[in-house]
Amino acid sequence: MLCVSGGLMEQHPQVFLSPSTCMITQRPVKQQDVPPPLPPRRHLIKPRPTSLPLPPPPSSQPPLAPLSLPPPVPPRVVKGGESRLRANVNVVSLSIGKLVDISQASGLESFQSPVVCGKCSAALSCLSSIQRKVWVCEFCGCENGVNDSVKSVCVGQRAGVHSDDLYLPNHSDDDYQNLEDTLVVFCVDISGSMSVTTEVTSSCGSPTYISRLEGMKDALQRALSSLLLESPRKRVALVTFSDEVVIYGDGASTPLTLRDWALVDYDHIWQQGVAYSIPHCIAETYEQLVQRVRDLREDGATCLGAAALASVAMASRYAGSKVILCTDGRANIGLGEMEHTPSLSSSPLTPYFYRQLALQAVGSGVIISVMTFEGTDCRLADVGRFADTTGGRVNIVSIGTVATEIHSASMDNILATGVTATLLAPEGVYFPYEDENNHKLVREIGSVTKGLEITFQFAVKPEFVEVFLQKDTLPFQLQLSFKTREQEKVTRVITQQRPVTSCSEIRAGSLNMAVLAVHCAQLCGSLTIEGRVQEAQRQLKAQQDLHKQISKQRPIQKEDSIYGNWMDTMTTICDDIITESQTLSDEAAKVMYQMKRASSVGNNNNNNSGNTIEIQKKTRRKKTALMEPM
Ligand SMILES: [Zn+2]
Repeated sequence: MLCVSGGLMEQHPQVFLSPSTCMITQRPVKQQDVPPPLPPRRHLIKPRPTSLPLPPPPSSQPPLAPLSLPPPVPPRVVKGGESRLRANVNVVSLSIGKLVDISQASGLESFQSPVVCGKCSAALSCLSSIQRKVWVCEFCGCENGVNDSVKSVCVGQRAGVHSDDLYLPNHSDDDYQNLEDTLVVFCVDISGSMSVTTEVTSSCGSPTYISRLEGMKDALQRALSSLLLESPRKRVALVTFSDEVVIYGDGASTPLTLRDWALVDYDHIWQQGVAYSIPHCIAETYEQLVQRVRDLREDGATCLGAAALASVAMASRYAGSKVILCTDGRANIGLGEMEHTPSLSSSPLTPYFYRQLALQAVGSGVIISVMTFEGTDCRLADVGRFADTTGGRVNIVSIGTVATEIHSASMDNILATGVTATLLAPEGVYFPYEDENNHKLVREIGSVTKGLEITFQFAVKPEFVEVFLQKDTLPFQLQLSFKTREQEKVTRVITQQRPVTSCSEIRAGSLNMAVLAVHCAQLCGSLTIEGRVQEAQRQLKAQQDLHKQISKQRPIQKEDSIYGNWMDTMTTICDDIITESQTLSDEAAKVMYQMKRASSVGNNNNNNSGNTIEIQKKTRRKKTALMEPM
């Protein structure tokens, strides 16, 4: 087993021959970083009707969704006899939220494009060696002819085993667009169930009842006021859904209504959304919008999918736009309806729509946030895909919190748009749990908000292990292309050599437990959402074992126990799903989606900035209590 540990920006790099690479820097742990609260037991799971078949195993996927299959099961490397580490500690962590901030970049700038390998597209870096005008690619071994001018292309500082190059091609092929100019589309459920009331305490202290819709209208009005104040140039639009979708745009034009057949025609809805007149900025439209919100009445069913599609279509005209989707029920008519589809994994058709629209949103740089009302069943596992794929928030709100949530989700926190990350490792390395069974990984991320951290684990194909063990280091390269808030097109190329060690040499101090824990949280969240609960359990177990092993070698640090609590929370959820053959409740789906966006403790100082694990002061229920029979 081969380990490569440490990180592209980390202080104590060490590559183990079962490799862990990270691009994070350690930060002090904050006092208030507590694990996410466990969903209450009785909401955690819902009974699976006995008539329903069990979800199919991940291998029998429908042919309909070739782009959205769960990643293939990684090839199993035959375990070496004495390998005691069951957790794969070869993990790369990329702090995308930091790396798109080029004011923090240490490298030098070039106004050219990178020179790339003809075979694997690795970029020539200061770590590459050129002999007699030939560059033998350090990632795939391809021989590339290069001319003398490349010396001026290779601009980054060579700092030992690390180079960081910025390429800013000086042509701009786009119209000028200010990120302030983007859209926020409120996509709001006004179905009949929104009339359900909740007791709240009025300002004079007496109990009073208000409906979800009233709570929502109040929240929207507050959000509109804040936007007017904070970003008067922001374009704001309103879309509602019940039996029909009504596109109000900025409230000034005649609303457009989609109903009947029009609710199931993907292309038609998209065209209508795109063609609707571009909303003006809120400074001009505030009054009309407030009036539209005031006039909303609840009635009818929930054509959520069609409304989300129309909203994304409107937002797609400006990269960096947002759709904020609020609902209290699952889609039951039109595109994406789930009333007649039994559960997450057993019906491929419904998730297909959600995946397709999510990918289209990513391609347009649109971020979708999803909030559902507590005490409802909205099939958050499915509808949460919108947020998960596009980098939005997933949360369950109450009448008391919906205003804060809508405000947070509408805040301008986009750091870069059109972000694509390409990670290269030498041939022979592959990335388990990713689609490509290759030494190169490409991930289209779309728009990026603060604190985004993505992790990958990697492994070495068995036939390469011996070869790699002969080497002292292995190269890794991250190519990050994106547009800054100033609409500058940037490619950032970071290349690092990581030391290689065999497993027997791993010392506790050399493992970055934060990176491993964040990766475990992200991976297990992902596996659980995909219905691969047993795999998630195995990962959790391995991580917990590693945690135990490490804690014998060094004192327990505060963050260790926080990460340990994450694992416990997820373990409880997975155990419940397995032992009772039940599906993901909205509460459990929320935790898993939040885990998928986990970032290292202290990575995100701003609680409002997005998708780090919710920091809540609620006392976490004791696991033992949760496991007791109801
Ligand atoms: Zn190459």
